[in-house]
Parts: sequence; C-alpha cells; structure tokens
Amino acid sequence: MRERKWKDCPSCNSIGTMKLKKNAKETFNIKKYQPITISDIEGYFCSNCGKGIYTIRAKKKIKSLLALEKAKQDSLRVVAADLMDIGYISKKLGVSIQRVYQMMNEGKIDYVFVGKNRFPIKIDDATLNELKKKVRTRKK
Ligand SMILES: [Zn+2]
Repeated sequence: MRERKWKDCPSCNSIGTMKLKKNAKETFNIKKYQPITISDIEGYFCSNCGKGIYTIRAKKKIKSLLALEKAKQDSLRVVAADLMDIGYISKKLGVSIQRVYQMMNEGKIDYVFVGKNRFPIKIDDATLNELKKKVRTRKK
C-alpha cells in the first residue's frame, strides 16, 4: 500500500479542500464496549464537508490501540475458560510465539490482560484457519 496525498475530497468532490491534520481525534463506539477515544492520529480532512481519510500509519495505530483498549475492557469480564494458550495458536498457525504477540499488537488476534500478561481470547477452528491463510499469503 502506498501513501496517497489527498487534495480533492472524494466525498463532496470539492477541489483542493483536503488538508493534512496531524492531531485528529476520534471516538469509536463499538458494540459491547465503552467508547474509545484515540487522539494524535494523522489524516487528510476536507475543509468543506469535514470528512477525513486517515493515513496508513494512523490506521495501523487505530487498529492497535482499539485492540489494546478492548483488551483492557475485556479483562474485567472474560473468564479463564475463554482464554487460549499462545503456544497452541503458534503451533496451529505455524508461526513463532513472538509473531503471535505481534499479531495481538496489530489487532489481528483479540486478547485480554491477566495481571501484566496478555492472553489470546479463544477462537474457533474456522477463525484459526482464516488467520492461517492470511499468514501464508503474507509469506509469499
Ligand atoms: Zn468534502
């Protein structure tokens, strides 16, 4: 994916109204979670209609922070039986333990905190297989 510099607004078709904003802020309302606000995100915003497009880096930051905030909230309600062993996932996906942690950071695998440690939330075999496909395509 290449970063694109937006000038014209794809929403309202205004010409030259898209301006880079480095400290945008958005509150995400996700079902079953308290609203999560993320600040200092970079994107191009239209001075006419207000619509914005986040940069690739900002999108990654959002994905990662949403996963982290969801994990913190889930930590209060998820029980031990809902957790999955990291070793099991790494074996199933054919990737290293470190890569599994990385996937949690990237928001690809949901997790919770148990004390200071992070544990993946249980995923069914179908979802595991989906993940496995993605891991495989990336290697090529
Ligand atoms: Zn616009």
